Amino acid sequence: MNDTESTAVLESADPAEDLNLFHIATQQFQHAVKYIPELKEGLIQFLIRPDRTLTVEFPIQTNSGEVRNFKGYRVLHSRVRGPGKGGIRFHPDVTGDEMRALASLMTWKCAVVDIPFGGAKGGVVCDPKRLTKDDLRMITRRFAVELNGSIGPHTDIPAPDVNTGPETMAWIYDTYHMMNPGHNNLPVVTGKPLNLGGSFGRREATARGTLFSTQQVLRRGLVAGLDSVDGATVAVQGFGNAGSIAAELFAEAGATIVAVSDSRGGVYAPGGLDPHAAIEHKKVTRSVVDLSGTESISNEELLEIECDILIPAALETQIRCDNAERVKAKIIAEAANGPTTPAADEIFFSKGVLVIPDILCNAGGVTVSYYEWVQNIENEQWDEDEVNAKLLKKMTRATDAVIDSQAEVNGSLQEIARKSEVRGHQSVTLPPVDLRTSAYILAITRVAEVALSRGIWP
Ligand code: NAD
Repeated sequence: MNDTESTAVLESADPAEDLNLFHIATQQFQHAVKYIPELKEGLIQFLIRPDRTLTVEFPIQTNSGEVRNFKGYRVLHSRVRGPGKGGIRFHPDVTGDEMRALASLMTWKCAVVDIPFGGAKGGVVCDPKRLTKDDLRMITRRFAVELNGSIGPHTDIPAPDVNTGPETMAWIYDTYHMMNPGHNNLPVVTGKPLNLGGSFGRREATARGTLFSTQQVLRRGLVAGLDSVDGATVAVQGFGNAGSIAAELFAEAGATIVAVSDSRGGVYAPGGLDPHAAIEHKKVTRSVVDLSGTESISNEELLEIECDILIPAALETQIRCDNAERVKAKIIAEAANGPTTPAADEIFFSKGVLVIPDILCNAGGVTVSYYEWVQNIENEQWDEDEVNAKLLKKMTRATDAVIDSQAEVNGSLQEIARKSEVRGHQSVTLPPVDLRTSAYILAITRVAEVALSRGIWP
């Protein structure tokens, strides 16, 4: 990305209801830095801009004999705290801006949970529903070849995301290893199958992290009238890796799952539905729709259902200014990346609806990816109990840090305004921050401190 392009993007951000995820991420970042007046402008610009955006185009010959061309991206946002880390998704709506935004979220997420990675993200514009498994394997291998010079165990480490999984990671590992033999290349990707250096607990990690974070928020008394997941009602949008396992784990923790949905629609059962039955039903029919004992609802209706906890676990910008007012949940636990727009955030903050932000709430996935990477480097495999115990500690500590950061910032708004004035900025008393902004402030401060310690090379 050249300078002109990036300036144009930053200036065109519409604070009202702009659904471009890069604009949204930029807006969230810029809002948070207002509360860190000591950050200098050059450092702010360095922290928001991605280090590298790679765009590739390549052909494959599909099963039907047709030659088709695909476009893919890999964005490395920041390597300040360690190698880039972030998923690869296969989806028709993948764009460069989406990848830039998601890569920056990874930087802040890794800093919030305090693991030594920077942020990255990648994707291929394709519709897996219209491709065979062989097509997907060829797309994955060819994409990995195109990325060969930029990914690596100590430079940029992909993981699964929307429509990719352990099998995709095995293909990437194998392709990379064929091109770079003679090394322990297992840490080049995480989320691998268990028999190929994968970690116990990685498959469930994103959802388990969401549960741990939600439990800690409730333990800390942030939601009046709700002190435990046990007995709470939960609706889950998206029934893939993050969503289906979240439904299972929240149910195991004593919650009642009242609604779930996938891209084909949703199902509702006010008295509760069995997530295992929904998973089995989806295996057979490829959707949760028509699960017995439930009534059909649309995805829009699911978001507005009567429940205590809403878990968006599908795609971004699902909760916006046009539907946030109708959301009835007391907590939005963001298993997905970027599901809530800034306008919706404002509505929730003013109504007292608690949003556990993505960069905290779904950080369990990258945390266990980090554990997988450590195990690969050490040629070890830890027990699942050990992985889950470490994850619990990380998520609890990160949730506490974000809550404490919120209290600290909101307790020193006048002091922040005074410091801004001393630095020559306009003196305005800033509004209190929500958990998203406090998570950003915590993360940006951590990354900025390391950037300043390291200095600029050469
Ligand atoms: P997935 O491909 O396994 O599942 C996505 C699910 O969302 C599918 O059930 C799909 O049918 C559904 N969906 C798609 N569009 C929808 C719509 N409009 N309404 C309702 N459902 C819809 O993907 P995943 O890995 O579970 O990722 C889901 C979200 O979680 C993404 O935002 C991803 O970035 C985020 N996330 C995933 C991980 C991970 O480890 N997999 C980690 C952190 C964050």
